[in-house]
Formats: sequence, C-alpha cells, structure tokens
Amino acid sequence: MRRLFIADLHLHEQRPELTRALLLLLEQKATRFDELYLLGDIFDTWVGDDAAPESLAPVYLALRRLSAAGTRVLFQHGNRDFLFGQEAATRLGVTLLPEVARVESAQGPVLLLHGDQLCTADRAYQQFRRQVRRPEWQRAFLARPLAERVAIAQRLRATSRSETAEKPEAITDASPSAITTLMQREQVALIIHGHTHRPALHRRQGSPLGVRIVLGNWDREGWYLEMDPQGVRQYAFELPVANRLHSVLRQQL
Ligand code: MN
Repeated sequence: MRRLFIADLHLHEQRPELTRALLLLLEQKATRFDELYLLGDIFDTWVGDDAAPESLAPVYLALRRLSAAGTRVLFQHGNRDFLFGQEAATRLGVTLLPEVARVESAQGPVLLLHGDQLCTADRAYQQFRRQVRRPEWQRAFLARPLAERVAIAQRLRATSRSETAEKPEAITDASPSAITTLMQREQVALIIHGHTHRPALHRRQGSPLGVRIVLGNWDREGWYLEMDPQGVRQYAFELPVANRLHSVLRQQL
C-alpha cells in the first residue's frame, strides 16, 4: 500500500501558484499511489457545497480524474473547510473521513487528524470549534443567503487572525498532554496531522517510541508525505513550480 498525504494548502483564488502546484502533484505524483489523504484546510474557505469556488474548477476535475484512474482520495475536514459536505465529496469523487481516522500500515496503526483538536491550550478556539461543529449551527449557517455566509466567514477569519497573532506560540501548538492522551487511548505509536504550520517529525510522543509527524502548510514551499512499507518520508518543494516538482527530503521515519 502506497499512501500520499497533504494538508493546509489553503487554496485560494488569489494564490493561483498553489492551485498550479497541486495540479502538478495530482497529475505527476499522486497517480502512483493507492490512496491520497487530504488532511484538512485544503480549501482556505468553504461556505457551502453550493458555493464551491469556481476558480478551483481545475482542482475538482483533477481529483475526479485521479479517483477514476484508481487512486482513492480521502478528505478530512480542517478548521477552514469543515463545511465541505457530502454533496461536494460525491461531486469530487472523494470519501469523507471522520475527524480522527485510524489506518493500518506497515508501520503499525496510524492516527490521522487535522490537528486543531490537539491545540487544547487555546480554550477560546476549542469553544468556538465545539459551536461550529454542531449540526444545528451548521444547518442554520448553510440556510443563510450566500452573501451573508461569506460575510460571516470573513469576520470570523479576521477575528481569528488578530487573536492568533496575540497568542503565545505554545498556545497555538499541539498540546503535549492532548497528544499523550490521544495516542495512549488509541494505542498508536504514530500520528500524522497538519494545522500548526510547523512541519516536523517529533519523537517520544505519548510513549518512548511514539512519533508525531506534522505536515507542512503550502506557502513559500509545498509539502507532502509518502508512506509505504519502506517507511515514511516528508518532502518539500519550492513555490511557485514551473513544470515539475523538485522535491527535497525533509523528514524520514
Ligand atoms: Mn488548520
């Protein structure tokens, strides 16, 4: 089994170089994998399946092509695209994952999550998260006219940006106690997540042999993680990309 993981692309119509790099990754690399995991915040904003950004149409098409060609595509929600629904999933040919997903691998059981759940020191964010993940809140939000949804999303993003800027680094990172609790409860020695924009491979997580891999966000560089029976490797490449991804190995297990 060969798996490819990406997260935190934050695709946005004002960052066409991100879309272009993803299209190259999907066309030139992902086809060689059995599964592609999208671990959250692929889209910078998602205010409803009826309002999928049109500028990203080439991405939707490439994802459909990829799954039609035999690579399973799995989608986990991030804190930006948590409203990505079943209708969009069906349209794009992707399978929605639970917010904590467990997969078996040659490296043993692995937990996959976006990672915002682990930032438990950020109490205000966790409270906000509980609110917006409630089905009633989502139903009420999605029932609003599109212009209102866009305005609310912009306001929430602006608030989050200014609040995050004021919070110390440790508050917005994954909390060691949340990591230990999750890894021990789920009896895993490997977890993979994104969200914090702090790509790394951390050892001694949850147990002496526990490993936590943090996926990189796409900005000046793009990041992806490969997992196969030979191991787990995270690569980065410079953006913008011309015709081919020139990847450099950054972390290895
Ligand atoms: Mn995130």
